[in-house]
Amino acid sequence: MKRLQGKVAIVTASTQGIGFAIAERFALEGAAVVISSRRQNNVDAAVEKLRSKGLEVTGVVCHVSNPQQRKELIDKTVQRYGNIDIVVSNAAVNPSVDNILETKESVLDKLWEINVKATILLLQAASSYLNNGSSVVIISSIEGYNPSQVLAMYGVTKTALLGLTKALAAEMSPKTRVNCVAPGIVPTNFADFLVKNKDIRKGIEERTLLKRLGTPEDMAATAAFLASDDSSYITGETIVVAGGAQSRL
Ligand code: NAP
Repeated sequence: MKRLQGKVAIVTASTQGIGFAIAERFALEGAAVVISSRRQNNVDAAVEKLRSKGLEVTGVVCHVSNPQQRKELIDKTVQRYGNIDIVVSNAAVNPSVDNILETKESVLDKLWEINVKATILLLQAASSYLNNGSSVVIISSIEGYNPSQVLAMYGVTKTALLGLTKALAAEMSPKTRVNCVAPGIVPTNFADFLVKNKDIRKGIEERTLLKRLGTPEDMAATAAFLASDDSSYITGETIVVAGGAQSRL
């Protein structure tokens, strides 16, 4: 399928895991994709990997909470490709497994900065370059519906993204659609602390109806749907991609 032919896409935190799979899927569907993350060597390696498959990708270093690097991400995209059709806000951190009432203020600030505020600031920087019919995809988490004890404050920031999706969809309509993906557990580096223990992993798999963890490609397929015109009458929505794990009614 080439649903994104001629489109220009920015994907944050896209040198590995879910972000990388989204970048690859978008490029396979015909988009020119701008890859980014904090480390130049990771950006170079990801770009090289996708270019070796004949895909149209560029890389820009961008720590999402660095204002100068956010500006460069937008500026370099616009210099190279003109305008922007798709922005995927995928970066997040989970620096602590403390209970909320024991979480240090500096950690609360970091969670808010990267998981929520950076999405808003990136879209502020991108908004004047977004084409008519553009699409924003925000990556939340199933944890946003029911924050679990070990991921409590992280989960709350992901709840905020569900509200942010609704609010931005209203604010950015009708030019731009804004939707959200809420992944279940996917065995990436990010989730390693959860899935490296075989018993815990089994428990997570058992709590899904499909009896398996998600894959980055599962998330990428949904992000591609939301970025494409196949979802042209959908905005302000969150799609849970979690194998039927419990999220909401
Ligand atoms: P991952 O495999 O660990 O990949 C993290 C990526 O983010 C890397 O490319 C990393 O590259 C980049 N990165 C980290 N901090 C960054 C920052 N401040 N600014 C820019 N880039 C940054 O993670 P993942 O599992 O794919 O997670 C991606 C998203 O999915 C996150 O929003 C996460 O909350 C969400 N999610 C994940 C799961 C799961 O089970 N994996 C479940 C639900 C939701 P550098 O080191 O070069 O920066």
